Amino acid sequence: VSGGYQNGCLFCRIVAGEVPATQVAGTERVVAFRDINPRAPIHVLVIPREHYPDVAAVAADGGDVLVEMARVAADVAARAGVDGWRWVFNTGVDAGQSVFHVHGHVLAGRAMGWPPG
Ligand code: 5GP
Ligand code: ZN
Repeated sequence: VSGGYQNGCLFCRIVAGEVPATQVAGTERVVAFRDINPRAPIHVLVIPREHYPDVAAVAADGGDVLVEMARVAADVAARAGVDGWRWVFNTGVDAGQSVFHVHGHVLAGRAMGWPPG
């Protein structure tokens, strides 16, 4: 199910201000906040305010908010002054997705291995 506020969704609760988070950027449709368990010196989650379970659901709905998410991710990285950054969408359980409100991980501030584990 996509759109609006989904009961029981942790990231919908963060958007609504019901669960605290350290917000680092925000636009009309997108919010960026620090990951609670950072895996790099910079680890920010970029999410649409509206609920979509994963990036495939965003695309299926037309996907324009994905462009706004990319702009916010780039702004976060630019403000951090890093030379490079990684943008990760874990999609599905096998890929390690644990929160089913789409989020792009912005990871930066250290050398990145390839391929990701
Ligand atoms: P996934 O495993 O779905 O790709 O990523 C979920 C991310 O959300 C994880 O990196 C995890 O550390 C982060 N996370 C889980 N709960 C919270 C929370 O309550 N606040 C914040 N800021 N991040 C969270
Ligand atoms: Zn949600």
